[in-house]
Amino acid sequence: MDIQLQKVSYAYAQGTPFEKRALFDVELAIPSGSYQAIIGHTGSGKSTILQHLNALLKPTEGTIQIGDKTITAGKKTKDLKPVRQKVGIVFQFPEHQLFEETVLKDIIFGPMNFGISEDEATKRAQQLIELVGLPLTVLDKSPFDLSGGQMRRVAIAGVLAMEPEVIVLDEPTAGLDPRGRKEIMDLFLQLHKERNLTTILVTHSMEDAARYADRIAIMHEGKCVLTGNPEEIFGNAKQLAAYRLEPPRIVRFQREFEEKVGRKLPT
Ligand code: ADP
Repeated sequence: MDIQLQKVSYAYAQGTPFEKRALFDVELAIPSGSYQAIIGHTGSGKSTILQHLNALLKPTEGTIQIGDKTITAGKKTKDLKPVRQKVGIVFQFPEHQLFEETVLKDIIFGPMNFGISEDEATKRAQQLIELVGLPLTVLDKSPFDLSGGQMRRVAIAGVLAMEPEVIVLDEPTAGLDPRGRKEIMDLFLQLHKERNLTTILVTHSMEDAARYADRIAIMHEGKCVLTGNPEEIFGNAKQLAAYRLEPPRIVRFQREFEEKVGRKLPT
């Protein structure tokens, strides 16, 4: 499912003395099946964009195309339910949103709300719990008896249970140690490939963006200032410095290594 933002601007509390413009004429095309990272400093507008991707926020100017649904500023859009089903958002610290008595009930809550039968939803939960790397026995446990890392996996299974076509990840590794970070990012890469999910990673980690994404967009003061593939974006340190961004360490190490051995590493 293609997503396209055309001249999207957004102002919080529009028309009040507290009006705060957060996005300015953002142009961004995310083709179906791609792995897009959106990076930038705190306050650059990443979360505001994220909330537009499944219509939690509507643009105050411009248009967003999400699959066959067009959301235009100032116009009513009918039936946003399919958009909410097709675009799953894994919010920061998703484990904070677990609330049911058992893991199973938590995972089937979303699909059942969308009219899927309990049997079908339970089947999905059984498949997904293993896909996210947890044993089936976890389904009968209280989510609050699990470790933080396990809870995060349960929350991810809950988002996948809606069978989204697009998954949006909001700083998915926040609060995890390096090993936990790699495990979760590898899991998302596996899901991206196996389920052909369009993946949108919102992060301030240049390393994660460089390592996992195939397209990068840089946000700066509410504007989308650069888009390109990782080589184009991270290969130009001067350009990055203009937005007070440092190239990711892995790219630096790679370049230092290549200079040392006198040949290019395979990409
Ligand atoms: P990021 O996710 O990159 O940190 P945000 O999208 O959260 O950036 O914020 C973009 C701008 O919008 C910032 O200046 C921020 O202060 C402002 N902002 C974010 N949320 C709100 C809100 N609910 N009300 C008013 N201003 C907000």
